[in-house]
Amino acid sequence: MSTESANAEYQVRLDRDRCEGIFACLVRDDRFVEAGDGLATIEGTDESDDDTLTATFADDRFEDARTAARACPVDAIEVREVADE
Ligand code: SF4
Repeated sequence: MSTESANAEYQVRLDRDRCEGIFACLVRDDRFVEAGDGLATIEGTDESDDDTLTATFADDRFEDARTAARACPVDAIEVREVADE
């Protein structure tokens, strides 16, 4: 709909503690991949804190990430724009 944030920086967070390996996210955004333990992980993860992975992007796939987040039945994915100074 709106194109104003097409290339704004955004963060994708995955709470692996919540993830149940249902993989609804994988088919909606190919940055989500299956890890060796049967749960999802994010390609390009730049930070991991306990079970939470964070990856930062600035591309036109913000909506893909949001679609994956909405599809996750256990709400393990959070997508948010990073405030730009
Ligand atoms: S859709 Fe949610 S529960 Fe399923 S693999 Fe992705 S993050 Fe995990």
